[in-house]
Amino acid sequence: MRGRRTGIAIARKTQMVEQGVVAEQIIDEAAVSDTLGAAQAPEAARLDELLAKARECQGLTRDEVAELAQVEAPDEVEAIFEAAREVKSRIYGERVVLFAPLYVSNECVGNCLYCGYRRDNRELERRTLSPDEIGAEVRWLIDHGYKRLLLVFGEYHCNDVHAMVRAVEAVYETRRGPGAIRRVNINAAPLSYEDFCVLKPAGIGTFQVFQETYHRATYQQAHPSGPKANYDWRLTVWDRCFPAGTDDMGLGVLFGLHDWRWELLALLDHAAYLDRTYGVGPHTISVPRLEPALNAPWANDPPAPVSDDEFKRIVALIRLAVPYTGMILSTRETADMRRECMRLGISQISAGSRTSPGGYTDHHPDEDERQFTIGDGRSLDEVMHDLCLMGYLPSFCTACYRAGRTGEDFMALAKPGKIHQMCLPNALLTFKEYLLDYASPATREAGERIIRGHLQDIRRASLKEQTEARLQRLEAGERDLYF
Ligand code: SF4
Ligand code: SF4
Repeated sequence: MRGRRTGIAIARKTQMVEQGVVAEQIIDEAAVSDTLGAAQAPEAARLDELLAKARECQGLTRDEVAELAQVEAPDEVEAIFEAAREVKSRIYGERVVLFAPLYVSNECVGNCLYCGYRRDNRELERRTLSPDEIGAEVRWLIDHGYKRLLLVFGEYHCNDVHAMVRAVEAVYETRRGPGAIRRVNINAAPLSYEDFCVLKPAGIGTFQVFQETYHRATYQQAHPSGPKANYDWRLTVWDRCFPAGTDDMGLGVLFGLHDWRWELLALLDHAAYLDRTYGVGPHTISVPRLEPALNAPWANDPPAPVSDDEFKRIVALIRLAVPYTGMILSTRETADMRRECMRLGISQISAGSRTSPGGYTDHHPDEDERQFTIGDGRSLDEVMHDLCLMGYLPSFCTACYRAGRTGEDFMALAKPGKIHQMCLPNALLTFKEYLLDYASPATREAGERIIRGHLQDIRRASLKEQTEARLQRLEAGERDLYF
């Protein structure tokens, strides 16, 4: 059934791409502008009504989010934050999933005005890691406790799909005693349908392509040359990715390029398009914000800067609008901002990130070699310790992807909130592994308290017993246990 439906989807999409209508079906710019232009901050009763609906974790429409995005009164903004905290807590509990980016290459033909890797940055030393060098980076990451990686590629001929496959294989083949990377996600240029078919057997988790800005005129200015200048090719990436069998899709906006309210509505339109077309919303939404970068004019002087307060409103509104979509925050933000945003809706964070190829094994990385300036430079263990002190439960869970719970299968569990039952025990098990194998004494002590506390949150007695039994098996030396 799925094969037939996928075939129909491909044929339909191919026809639509040929007719050039797909981009307009995904983002109707005039409709976004009209909605925003007509939106008024809601009166008190209407605000209560909208937030009551959001609290039911049923999501919000674009028009409803447009209204909430107009709210400016501090007490009303706080009411939105409170609702977002409630939804975040109800769906994700205190869990935070951790990962690291691994920059495979900074070679790029793109010339994006906001990126330190742009072609016109002549001061950057260009480098693409070989499979052996990727292996060395991965060994370092495994030795520090990571289990989830995001491979990041620049847009260059040496970063084609075959290079991606080799890189993914190099990661999965690298093992250190009990340690291994269990899930590889990719952030790269949009691929063709044929290339997505080549990539599929490599066994990736999520494929991320950020539109950066949905506003076509801004997009054209920000991407003056190179393949990335093609707005439509980027926007329609999921219409090639999904039919090729990769159904965990990661969206993102680079906030600071265009008006944040407009971007927010367009992003939600994109998510809604995926949902109604494929029955699967985005697996994750990332919310990077422009940070300074070497020889990147728009990074150093953003055309539409987003303040900290506005950024928190973005996070809260996304959480209310698409409650079951994971939300990712990188180390671009400071530790304090990350702490606040986790309460408001962020469910995944990177930690201890180095954003240049070879950045983990090169012990004295040149700061100018980074793609952007890092706001939170703490190590993974320091972040883990801090999370424990805040009461969070760090997680390296990769169970769904490895158990085949992706795309529609994942959403069928996520939308009614059933996935929550598995996330908590899996978080406990993966965190326990970290404490046993990699944690500093301080993190281990704080972490054991966290595990004892959150174990009590497993409501089903049989599941709690099974989790306790598996925790004991981990203590006895077994690894990689999950539900
Ligand atoms: Fe290249 Fe991507 Fe940077 Fe653009 S954003 S310059 S495509 S690495
Ligand atoms: Fe993610 Fe699935 Fe693990 Fe939950 S059980 S944390 S949804 S991989």
